[in-house]
Amino acid sequence: MHFDGSVTARDLTEKLSEVQLYDPLSLYVHVPFCRQLCWYCGCNMRVENYYTRAREYVEALKTEIALQAGILAGRGVPTSMHFGGGTPNYLLCDDLADILGAVEREIGLTDSADLAIELDPRLLRDDDIHHLVSIGFNRFSLGVQDFDPDVQAAINRLQSFDLIESCVSDIRAGGVDDVSFDILYGLPRQTEASFAQTIEKVIALSPDRVSVFGYAHLPDLLPHQRLIDSETLPDETLRAELAEAADASLTGAGYRRIGFDHYAKPDNALAMAASVGRLKRNFQGFTDDAAMTQIGFGASAISYVDGLYAQNEKSVGAYMETVRRGETPVARGLVRTKRETVTAAAISDLLCRLETDISAVLKAAPPADAIRVCSALERFESDGIIHWRGDAIVIAEGAHLLARAVATAFDPYVQPQIEYAAAV
Ligand code: SF4
Repeated sequence: MHFDGSVTARDLTEKLSEVQLYDPLSLYVHVPFCRQLCWYCGCNMRVENYYTRAREYVEALKTEIALQAGILAGRGVPTSMHFGGGTPNYLLCDDLADILGAVEREIGLTDSADLAIELDPRLLRDDDIHHLVSIGFNRFSLGVQDFDPDVQAAINRLQSFDLIESCVSDIRAGGVDDVSFDILYGLPRQTEASFAQTIEKVIALSPDRVSVFGYAHLPDLLPHQRLIDSETLPDETLRAELAEAADASLTGAGYRRIGFDHYAKPDNALAMAASVGRLKRNFQGFTDDAAMTQIGFGASAISYVDGLYAQNEKSVGAYMETVRRGETPVARGLVRTKRETVTAAAISDLLCRLETDISAVLKAAPPADAIRVCSALERFESDGIIHWRGDAIVIAEGAHLLARAVATAFDPYVQPQIEYAAAV
């Protein structure tokens, strides 16, 4: 929210020129198109009826990849590539292969790199999964949200259990052992009973990872969310109960809790990274990717290089026009101060491990802010949300859902969030 126009393409170019020969790179490609609008959506997307537009976008992506590759000049090694959206599988598999081919040609992509893609199961065509596996995708994330037909009707996203089941079975048949589900609590018409059934069905399908996110109803910011009847939304108490029930069911079924809202089977790469303290958090959520440099391609995609955030033009039209002129499409961003870097590291650590040493945060903050952080933490401590271990704060057992609320205590941009039910 604090990005502004002071960051330009030149800033990103300068930073990318400093990438070293073997620096790991995490690549992200944003595909902003969807077939229809889910009313809860908070993504940068557009409903697109004409595939010719998507084809033009693929060409623009390839141009942008070539532009950034020219700056990298062979330096940097992509260790992962993630296609997000929107709906990446709005694109035909041949077009996804075309983009991958451009990355391989221009930047290089080793066989060991992880290739992840978010899928809308409703858009899968016959043989798509087989095709995606054959071009190298080895991590699939399915937007499931909720299995209850009433809830699905209330969010304009109808997809049957059978559809998801057959999608998972096709992915497994391709030999892929990294399938992830996105689930949302706080959706209209969810009840304890309906959500318990959804989680039961999730467990029956046995994905390797599950993300359980809270739906954020922000109709003033996202006007299409007004299509959701706010009277049918669970209240704050029920939201917390749904999240807690999902946590109990998933951990009871053998999933390991990762950070505060992810779950993974113990033998999954994410759980193994968490157990050896290698878990990180980036724009896609929790990750086992060690790369510190992230390069985003496509409309609204964000790059992060050595303290610089640079976000591309959000509008598809403006993005494509800029790229066609041969220019890097950066529109805005932020250069982190030293204090922000220290604070960001502590927030990331807290969200990944549910504990963090805050001495560096306090040292980097001006005295008035350090006092504000300490008094917010005192409040969390007296409410039993955290306790201290030396200079580290530790989120109390059972309070993981409040990790983000505790993180607001460090964040110089926001007021500490101590309304706990509202924070979940
Ligand atoms: S498929 Fe995803 S990005 Fe597209 S409208 Fe639905 S929630 Fe939004």
